[in-house]
Amino acid sequence: MIALVDCDSFYASCERIFRPDLAHKPVVVLSNNDGCVIARSKEAKALDINMGVPWFKVKKRYLAKGGVVFSSNFALYGDISRRVMAVLKMMSPRTEIYSIDEAFLELSGISKHIGCEKMGITIKSTINKWTKIPVRIGIGPTKTLAKVASYQIKKYDLPSRVLVLNDKHSIEKALKETPIIKVWGVGSRLAKKLVVENVETAWDLSRLPPEYIKQKFSVVLERTLRELNGEQCLEIEDIQPTKKQIMVSRSFAHKVNDLSMLHAIINDFVARAAEKLRSEQQKCSSVSVFIRNSYFRKEEYECGFNNFILPYPSDDTRDFLKVVNKMLPLMYKSNVQYSKAGVMLSSFSNSSTVQDVVFPELHQKCNSALMKTMDKLNYYGYPVYLASQNAGRFNPIQRKMVSPKYTTNWNDLPLVR
Ligand SMILES: [Mg+2]
Repeated sequence: MIALVDCDSFYASCERIFRPDLAHKPVVVLSNNDGCVIARSKEAKALDINMGVPWFKVKKRYLAKGGVVFSSNFALYGDISRRVMAVLKMMSPRTEIYSIDEAFLELSGISKHIGCEKMGITIKSTINKWTKIPVRIGIGPTKTLAKVASYQIKKYDLPSRVLVLNDKHSIEKALKETPIIKVWGVGSRLAKKLVVENVETAWDLSRLPPEYIKQKFSVVLERTLRELNGEQCLEIEDIQPTKKQIMVSRSFAHKVNDLSMLHAIINDFVARAAEKLRSEQQKCSSVSVFIRNSYFRKEEYECGFNNFILPYPSDDTRDFLKVVNKMLPLMYKSNVQYSKAGVMLSSFSNSSTVQDVVFPELHQKCNSALMKTMDKLNYYGYPVYLASQNAGRFNPIQRKMVSPKYTTNWNDLPLVR
């Protein structure tokens, strides 16, 4: 049996951990630059605040009803996610972290002894007790059925937050109640095509011959169909595939035209990307950078892009800064109002297997100890920067209502009086 553990309104739930006063209040979290609503508590959903709606459109109405709003605080959400996943890893020998707030767990060995339902309830209450994050747990013989179970809990707002689909009758009932678009792996375009074929529910799909679906659609949908019928086609992937690229990009709250300001802001992105690279134990040899103006302006669309291949794989921020600072002036146009920029690192190789260089005097030696020390200081909330970084001088991204970094910065530790 497989369990899908999904955190309820994850970002909003994270904001509540250290704010018990918000327990039953509507809470929403906004995207970068406080643009759109990207997470809603149950109470906010009840106020008809839709996912993705621009904040300015609902602000007045929402605040008038006593709603609480936060800018996104990804330092907090990332750290809480890490804690939730650590608990899950303790509770099952095989876990697959599927997204920031979802994971699949193998239950087979454990649940034989205490039963799936009881196991689910134990996982739920442990997560809740240790991290204060509410979760729902769908359990079924396949990943796709675990997802169906999770959808059922959400749809009927089941108070136990745990649902096991393990017999023919309960599976059939759940499939009949699941619209095709809610089936895992079926996107809106595919759903439209299926509805034309009179496939309106998960049950309808499960009744079709697999060969027909494979021919008419794809082998992926055939696998979904088989999974709906209880045949395991998708394994738990407990070894995370290594990343192929790392991208750090942001839209600016205000247009930027000044080259030195752009330099400083982009150097921050480079530092962040390099930090992520080192946390994955990778080195990279390809560095790309882009700057562009807004799609939605009257002036002509301008996008500058450049790529540089390093002569050797590196994870030293200074190596990347050097090439980015060479590329940027070549792309920059003084008459353009830039509204977004980004940095991408790719062509990775594992840190431990990188070949040494033949002519070390030709380039700055990677200083791993220095970089590691910087990463540690930054992690524990004693920020250190390279001199060319922005380091808070300009504020390209607007987050006016951000909560403290309760769990990742000593200065933000919650006080109990
Ligand atoms: Mg969720």
